[in-house]
Amino acid sequence: MERIPQHSHCQICGKAVPYEKTVCSDECQEQYESIVKKRRFYMYVMYGALAVLIIMFILMYVP
Ligand SMILES: [Zn+2]
Repeated sequence: MERIPQHSHCQICGKAVPYEKTVCSDECQEQYESIVKKRRFYMYVMYGALAVLIIMFILMYVP
C-alpha cells in the first residue's frame, strides 16, 4: 500500500491536492466556484418551491 500523507482530491479534476485545499489550480477554482454558486441557487429554488407548496396546502385546508 502506498503511503500518502493526509490529502484530498481536486473537486473538479480529481488530482491529489494538499488536505486543506479543495482544488488544484486557479482554473479548477473558478469552475468549482461556479458549481457551488449554481448548487446554492438550486437549493434556494427548492426551498422556495417547498415554501409555496406549504402555503398552498395551508390555504386549501385552513378555512
Ligand atoms: Zn483540478
